[in-house]
Amino acid sequence: MIYFDYNATTVIHPEVLNEMIPFLSNQQGNPASNHKFGRRAQTAIEEAREKVACSVNAHPSQVIFTASGTESNNTIINGIAQNYPETHFAYSAIEHPCISEPIKSLSKKGFVTTKIPVDSQGMLDLDKIENDSKNPISFLSVMMANNETGIIQDLPKIIEWAKLKKIITHTDAVQALGKITVDFEMLEVDAMTISSHKIYGPQGVAALILNKKIDMSAFIMGGGQEKGLRSGTENIAAIIGFGKACERTKEHMVLLNRNIKPLQVQLISELKKMGALIFGENSERLNNTVFFTFKGIDGSTLLTALDRKGFALASGSACSSNNSEPSHVLIAMGVSEEIAQGAIRISLGINSNKNEVDTFLIALKSELERLKQLTAIAA
Ligand code: PLP
Repeated sequence: MIYFDYNATTVIHPEVLNEMIPFLSNQQGNPASNHKFGRRAQTAIEEAREKVACSVNAHPSQVIFTASGTESNNTIINGIAQNYPETHFAYSAIEHPCISEPIKSLSKKGFVTTKIPVDSQGMLDLDKIENDSKNPISFLSVMMANNETGIIQDLPKIIEWAKLKKIITHTDAVQALGKITVDFEMLEVDAMTISSHKIYGPQGVAALILNKKIDMSAFIMGGGQEKGLRSGTENIAAIIGFGKACERTKEHMVLLNRNIKPLQVQLISELKKMGALIFGENSERLNNTVFFTFKGIDGSTLLTALDRKGFALASGSACSSNNSEPSHVLIAMGVSEEIAQGAIRISLGINSNKNEVDTFLIALKSELERLKQLTAIAA
C-alpha cells in the first residue's frame, strides 16, 4: 500500500513511540496521586507541556491538554458560550465540522451566529462580513490551513481586523502545525487548537492553547485536572508522545520544504497534463496537499479503483468520508456540486518519495483511461 492520506492521520514517528513505551509498559501512577508514581507522572506531563508550548511559541501555562482537536474546538466554543451568553459567534464557511457544528447547535439555542464566505480561491473575504452594528461579532474562528485544499489563510490580517473590533479570536491550527510556522504569541490570537495525530504523534490527544485573559468555562467537568478547564485523568503516554511529536515539528517542516514540495510540484504538473482541475491553485497552500478533480469522473469510483490498486487517498476530509455530500469547502468556494463530487485529495507525509509518486501517476493514468472507456460504453 502507498499511503497518501497524511492530512487524515500520520504514522507515529519511531522516536515518539520510544518515548511513549515506558509509560505504557510500566506502572504509571495517576498524576493526581500524592506519591512517587503520581509525582513522576505529573512531572512527565509538565515536561510534555513545555515541549507543546515551545512548538507554537506559547507559555506552558497556556496549554490545556484534551483528547482531540474536535474536543479542543468544542471546548472553546461551548466554554465561551457558557460564560458570555450574549456572544455573537462567527466562523468561516470552510471550517472543519467540529467548529461549524457546535456553533450551529448554539444558534438553535438562540445565539447569534454568522458564517463568513470565502472567495473562489478559498480565502476569507473580510469585505463580505456583514457585521450587525446592534449585535456585532464577538467571537471569530478561522482555521490556519484547510484540511481539504491545504489553503493557508492570511491570519495576521484577519486577527488585526478582529482585534480592532475587540473580537475574541480562535484559530484551528490542526493542519498547520508541523507544516508551516505556527506562532501563538506573534499571531496575538486568543485561542488555538492543535492535534497530535496530525504531526506524527499518537491519536487521542490534543491541546487548546488559551490566552489567560480569556475567561472560559469548563466544557468537561469533574476532577479538576488541567486547572479545572478539562477534567479527566490524563492519557499520560499519549501526552508524552504529543510532546515529543511537537519537538520534532521544526525538523518536519524542513523535510516538507526540501523533499515534499518538489513532489507536490510534480503531482500538480502531471495531473494537469492528464486534464485535472486543481482547487485553490492560485492561493498559498500547504506543501503536502493537492486537491483535484477530473471532469466527468466520479471521485468515489476513482478512489475505490485506486484503493484496489494499493493507493490510500481521500475524497475530502476523513471525518466526513461516510458522507456522500459534496465537500462544503468546495461549495463555499463556488464549485458546482457536480465538479465537487469528483474531488480527490492527495496529502503527502515527511517520508513520501518520488518512487511512490511516479508509481501512483502510472496507476492513475491507466485507471483514468479504463474509467473513461467504461463511461463511453455506458453512454
Ligand atoms: N480541525 C481540522 C482542520 C482537522 O483537519 C481535523 C481532523 O481532520 C480536526 C480539526 C479534528 O481533529 P481530531 O481528529 O484530533 O479530532
